[in-house]
Amino acid sequence: MAPRAKTPSKPQAPADRAVSAVSPADAPPADLTQTIVAAITTAIIEHRLAPGAKLTEQKIAAIYGVSRTIVRQALFQLARDHLVRLEPDRGAFVAQPSVEEAREVFAVRRVLEQHLVEAFCEKAVAGDFRALRAHLKQEQAVVGRVDVTGRTRLLGDFHVLMAERIGNHVLAQILSELISRCALITLMYQSSRAAQHSSDEHVEILKALETRDLARAKSLMEAHLLATENSLLYHRRISSANLAEALGSRAA
Ligand SMILES: [Zn+2]
Repeated sequence: MAPRAKTPSKPQAPADRAVSAVSPADAPPADLTQTIVAAITTAIIEHRLAPGAKLTEQKIAAIYGVSRTIVRQALFQLARDHLVRLEPDRGAFVAQPSVEEAREVFAVRRVLEQHLVEAFCEKAVAGDFRALRAHLKQEQAVVGRVDVTGRTRLLGDFHVLMAERIGNHVLAQILSELISRCALITLMYQSSRAAQHSSDEHVEILKALETRDLARAKSLMEAHLLATENSLLYHRRISSANLAEALGSRAA
């Protein structure tokens, strides 16, 4: 499909106003942490928070009427998911993955996932196919909805699940890490059409695996990863040091 056209960047709201959509609640600390995680994630997806924007602990704590400890927990969780970067003595910033890094991630995935398809084709039993089919059912139900975080997670989980089902936990962990390194780019730039397309490709890959057609499964996986990469990065400047710069944002 045609990649999304580059649009002029909108003026970015300061971090403290961009995440103020949720009102503070008398909820348990864990729920409050999740509320803040969700609000910041949504602000990133909706381009209200630009890559590189500073997330001031104190301001976020004031917005939600919570302690800085709770904000810190939320920022830690976002950092673990590669959406936020924590810098000693400087604080937290929205991550700024470079286009080059994303391309490297996809190049590594293409190699690893050829191996994954081979191993899955060799080892998978009926229960593994059932598990993947069940996953795809869930995936297909979610891709059409507006839940960008949910669909991104499920689309990535398909690959991780393949490795887990055949007991290759090392590969599952590496893939999970690689996929989350591209999380910010995927959340911000994968259109719902591209997400649907991606899920349809999963269905085709599974069909090839079910008939143990290794050559077809491998070429479908290769094409799938290339298509995903291109749908995310085609219009970004490869030479750019970071996304914000590539999109003409002043937040670089
Ligand atoms: Zn996929």
